[in-house]
Amino acid sequence: MENYLLALDQGTTSSRCIIFDRQGRICSKVQREFSQIFPQDGWVEHDATEIWASQMGVAVEALLQLGADASQIAAIGITNQRETVVVWEKESGKPICNAIVWQCRRTAEACDRMKAEGLEPEIRARTGLLLDPYFSASKLRWILDQIPGAQARAEKGELLFGTVDSWLIYRLTGGRVHATDPSNAARTMLFNIHTLSWDEELLRLFNIPRCMLPKVLPSGGVFGYTDPHLFGKSIPIAGVAGDQQAALFGQCCFDVGDAKNTYGTGGFLLMNTGAVAVTPKQGLLSTVGWQIGKEVNYVLEGSVFVCGAVIQWLRDGLGLIKNAAESERLANKVPDNGGVYLVPAFVGLGAPYWDAYARGGIQGLTRATTKAHIVRAALESMAYQTTDVLTAMQEEATVSLTKLRVDGGAAANQFLLQFQSDILGLPLLRPACVETTAWGAAALAGLSVGMYANKEELKAEWRADREFTPQMEVSRREQLLKEWHRAVERSCGWAK
Ligand code: ADP
Repeated sequence: MENYLLALDQGTTSSRCIIFDRQGRICSKVQREFSQIFPQDGWVEHDATEIWASQMGVAVEALLQLGADASQIAAIGITNQRETVVVWEKESGKPICNAIVWQCRRTAEACDRMKAEGLEPEIRARTGLLLDPYFSASKLRWILDQIPGAQARAEKGELLFGTVDSWLIYRLTGGRVHATDPSNAARTMLFNIHTLSWDEELLRLFNIPRCMLPKVLPSGGVFGYTDPHLFGKSIPIAGVAGDQQAALFGQCCFDVGDAKNTYGTGGFLLMNTGAVAVTPKQGLLSTVGWQIGKEVNYVLEGSVFVCGAVIQWLRDGLGLIKNAAESERLANKVPDNGGVYLVPAFVGLGAPYWDAYARGGIQGLTRATTKAHIVRAALESMAYQTTDVLTAMQEEATVSLTKLRVDGGAAANQFLLQFQSDILGLPLLRPACVETTAWGAAALAGLSVGMYANKEELKAEWRADREFTPQMEVSRREQLLKEWHRAVERSCGWAK
């Protein structure tokens, strides 16, 4: 009996495997952290072999924990850290160097030079992205330039490129399938989101040999079958999506205007824009949500660099709290923020500001300010930043949101979610299954192999845990937002 769906959730700091039943309940879950490699200031690498080994390890352990064997798994879904670049030998399957992680800033100058040449508008029109080192293309260019012989070998067809999903598919299928899906391809800066194909002009611009690129297959569909030696029986790999898009799918945001926000280390707000790729005017990205058959769903995305990470800073940097959960208790100790605003622009500001020179600040301190006010201001900053992104998004998408679905580690914080609802003036829905990323990949896979007849059946399985509704007076909300924007203004351009 093929009762289960197995999700491989390959994140930036850990590899996880979650096995779900048909109702989307978690039956088994195993997680393993792997090495973060920092060769120089601002550089971040992973060992792709360690990624593969840890991912395979947790999959086997999750099966053992459940006491299930491969014949009970209907399909595998893969979701992954996006943009990270792996290059490996076609013949041996060995990576030629460490993977360059999305966070790595080593190609900042190369991107600045391209910007100075005026290339950004054209790239943005084709890819929906901003010309930033964050995306894969400049990292792949770096590898082909810096690893001796790499460009020539790639041109001869000896090397393959992939984001982490492609790398896992390649290894899982014993090297038989080299493929990716449009939600991952869209983050490489080499993929045209309108024609849904690798873009000749961009390949020329970055001088990337086409023969090293994976085939792009629909996110919901069979990519291939696992090598029978791995799990004792072949399992179809039937769903693939980048982590944020998978979370949007897992939250059942299937209709135009549906949106979710993930409060993790960073914050990621995604809104479904349906069959149209909106061309954003402000610092938002237009990207592919998923493709099922011929049907493509586009999304608008805005990211906040420091979201839950501000709470880690309170704990590790300032020692104000012992653990993240304590932030909620402290924030509830004071009736309001006492006029204190904390702008966590530690690494600049993301959407909608995109100010690389912004730095953090705390405004409005008085002799009456206590630790509780600062902790509260930190939590409030997560909500203010999300509000700024959402406001920009509503202007672009010309749809008004009626509800926001939320997830991520910090969505455990009730104070944060109530304040977010207040400051947005919108109801928030928190799902019963908070593992929306892994569930999104599993659900895509389940849909592909016919475990669910259609997306409506998936919707029927989605359960809310709690709804948060706005309680704050409009005038109060407006005043708080005005003060927040004054604080942001003071942080902008600080490091210039
Ligand atoms: P990621 O997947 O990005 O690593 P998670 O979704 O696991 O992140 O969320 C972890 C983040 O959430 C951390 O930055 C942590 O500080 C924050 N966090 C976890 N629990 C709470 C809480 N109760 N209140 C506020 N922030 C929290």
